[in-house]
Amino acid sequence: MSETPQTPQPQQTPQSATATADADEPSATTPEMEEAARAGRALPLVMSAPRGRKKPPPHLADLDPAGRKALLEDNGLPGFRAKQLSTHYFARLVDAPEQMTDLPAAQRGELVSTLLPELMTPVRTSEADRGTTRKTLWRLFDGALVESVLMRYTDRTTMCVSSQAGCGMACPFCATGQGGLQRNMSTAEIVEQVMAGARSLARGEVPGGPGRVNNVVFMGMGEPLANYKAVVGAVRRLTDPAPDGLGMSARGVTVSTVGLVPRIRQLTEEGVPLTLALSLHAPDDELRNELVPINTRFSVAETVDAAWQYARTTKRRVSIEYAMMRGINDQGWRADLLADVLYATGADWGWVHVNLIPLNPTPGSKWTASDPADEQEFVRRLEARGIPTTVRDTRGREIDGACGQLAASELA
Ligand code: SF4
Repeated sequence: MSETPQTPQPQQTPQSATATADADEPSATTPEMEEAARAGRALPLVMSAPRGRKKPPPHLADLDPAGRKALLEDNGLPGFRAKQLSTHYFARLVDAPEQMTDLPAAQRGELVSTLLPELMTPVRTSEADRGTTRKTLWRLFDGALVESVLMRYTDRTTMCVSSQAGCGMACPFCATGQGGLQRNMSTAEIVEQVMAGARSLARGEVPGGPGRVNNVVFMGMGEPLANYKAVVGAVRRLTDPAPDGLGMSARGVTVSTVGLVPRIRQLTEEGVPLTLALSLHAPDDELRNELVPINTRFSVAETVDAAWQYARTTKRRVSIEYAMMRGINDQGWRADLLADVLYATGADWGWVHVNLIPLNPTPGSKWTASDPADEQEFVRRLEARGIPTTVRDTRGREIDGACGQLAASELA
């Protein structure tokens, strides 16, 4: 995608920014990134964000209730108003000052700009599935671009969010990875993607009537565990009871990782019962070193063991994500090897579930979709070994909205 900017409008809703994809609009990935990804060029791993970049303004969602009160007081404003602002933001799903009529009119603007500064503006929203799948491209305060996707099903709504602008994990099949890491997102920037979706749903802007966000998956741009503190902060904000947070169940939150083993261990100790999704993509070190370069630091065995320890401690089943790439990782013998690797933990219960991700068919590209017959055979072999296996819903594919290593589908 290569696109030119529209002028972002303050308070503009994602819906009002809705436009069809245009070749001249901005994109979170560039043609150079996509070209590099198509060429499969190897990039260095970048484990930490570049230093010295300006930080986004502090926001209510970055802070706990005491921090919110302190921020108001530091700005000469009454601390007790923090709870009212939290109620508007998290419980009433309101961010427009004119709707906050319980705040004194003379102080309202200052209160809102102090605790609810605008963090991102929608550049473009693309829709698919008759409006029930919506991908929004956001411009952050410093011009960085990130994406989120809302997917409404009959029984639930899932938000897929980004955790970093760009990504330093350098997976060669992924356009985001080829662009490198620009910066970590703040807790509030991550939370605000969910809140924007929640506000749209509450206002009835998504077909199906007013609704709420039930699931959040950290499968947009970035490696969530490389931005650990902000991501865990965002999970806490999303799961804290209203009005301190959005009040979601932690069971509705999935954090994906390519396998930052020390961070998986840290998450295991964190005590938040979220679902861990491990993007494995290959069961053998030789291929995984190439597809997922972090594997050169942490082997398949170490990574799978960390995931198993997570499942054992939290009693939450881990999801193994496996993007099916024709002729690369989709051979029957690799399905058998994957089963061996998952059983090598010695687990005696169903600790794991495999989720196969179909790539978009891309004739001529090195990274293209598996033959459906190979995909079925892969599923058959895993299930024959007693491993629950599903093939990911390709919802939103026509807007490149298939999240989770999302750029793999953007190479189409
Ligand atoms: S696949 Fe995921 S972890 Fe790998 S480079 Fe892309 S966004 Fe980063």
